[in-house]
Amino acid sequence: MSTPMTEPFRFKLTDEQRQIVGTVRDLTQSEFKQHGLAYMNGAFPWENIRRLADIGVLGMAVPQAYGGSEFAVFDTALVLEEIAKGCYVTAMAVLGEVGVQTRIIATYAPEPIKRRLLPAVCRGECILAICMTEPQAGTDVANYVTNTVVRGTTLRLKGVKTLCSRAEEAGAFVVFTRINGTPGRDGIGCVLVEKGTPGLVLSGKFHTMGGEYLHEVRFEDCELPAENLLLAEDGFKKLISAFNTQRCLNPSISLGLAEGAFDEALRYARERAAFGRPIGEFQGMRWKLADMYNEIEASRGLLYRACATANPFPDPLLAAQAKVYCNEMSLRVTSEAVQIFGGYGFTDEYLVSRLYRGARYGSLGGGTSETLRDLIGKRLMASTDLTDGILGLSDF
Ligand SMILES: Cc1cc2nc3c(=O)[nH]c(=O)nc-3n(C[C@H](O)[C@H](O)[C@H](O)COP(=O)(O)OP(=O)(O)OC[C@H]3O[C@@H](n4cnc5c(N)ncnc54)[C@H](O)[C@@H]3O)c2cc1C
Repeated sequence: MSTPMTEPFRFKLTDEQRQIVGTVRDLTQSEFKQHGLAYMNGAFPWENIRRLADIGVLGMAVPQAYGGSEFAVFDTALVLEEIAKGCYVTAMAVLGEVGVQTRIIATYAPEPIKRRLLPAVCRGECILAICMTEPQAGTDVANYVTNTVVRGTTLRLKGVKTLCSRAEEAGAFVVFTRINGTPGRDGIGCVLVEKGTPGLVLSGKFHTMGGEYLHEVRFEDCELPAENLLLAEDGFKKLISAFNTQRCLNPSISLGLAEGAFDEALRYARERAAFGRPIGEFQGMRWKLADMYNEIEASRGLLYRACATANPFPDPLLAAQAKVYCNEMSLRVTSEAVQIFGGYGFTDEYLVSRLYRGARYGSLGGGTSETLRDLIGKRLMASTDLTDGILGLSDF
């Protein structure tokens, strides 16, 4: 018998990864899944957040020196995937604590800010909001007009941000802002605004189809201490590097939503009878399940591969590929799950309906599918050495 030239390419979880994933799975399946309907009206899932803080999940992006559990991006993605299987709103709330805003503070904030905020983030006592999107510019970052004037030891922040998650609950806001009016993408840095700062106003509110509220936030000449300048006008490249982590964590939620919907649909296809037999025995249903399963497995491969490159931030091309594919796969798979459930699948009371609505978010936040396709396409066009074909584009 010939020996294979390479080991089969597979992800094998460590004992520690199995343990944390197993603990989160138990919580999600026994608690979060049952209570999910309660969060469709905009209520914040405080109870779930506290449960996750107790087992160290909220400190996944925080170094141990500040009370965190400092997980690898891959491990963090595995945890978010589990939570998303049962509750989109909870997964999004956790993303706020383990995502880009926490990573920016943990990497770039001065020591006193890290010591003040990060332990509270781990305990679930400080929710962090991120304010990037402006009414006139979301994707088009170069058109941001929010500006911070830096004069001696004070900063003055002026501008309007919108579609901000968790603004009502937030103890602090990480705000992308032009610095001293410097034009273009490269003029954008970032400041920290803490709750209670005079001039910080929540001026508008949107309820999403996923369940949560998003806010318009106005910064009306907010005066901030100099230490709140997290990144100055040369900071944009660093912000984008940190943002690549979001491009692995956002799709881990998409993947979890699809997996949760698939589990529900498979169970239902075995139990629900029509014409004297389980609906899963009809070819029309079996093929759906087969396609859903294949798409989920393909997504896992892309996502885990991207996560494995994080050091500390993941490879931009692999993260973009994973994000586009997982986001769009999630919408297809959750939609098919709704179809398998028939009319019940369209009601709020059934989990598949809520997972489907949550799945619509993925391709809108953290870089839209269109802009990430552009990034991937540009990279393909720029790669001139095709000696190895497309395999030459990555180390895998
Ligand atoms: C649930 C949810 C939570 C969010 N949370 C936050 C948050 O916490 N903080 C925050 O700052 N923002 C948040 N957002 C906002 C989100 O980041 C923006 O919606 C996103 O960046 C897109 O910006 P936009 O909505 O202004 O769309 P636009 O940028 O106006 O884009 C509209 C459409 O045009 C397309 N488009 C734009 N440029 C191009 C191009 N060059 N080529 C091809 N197509 C293009 C886009 O892909 C999109 O389909 C959230 C959004 C949602 C839905």
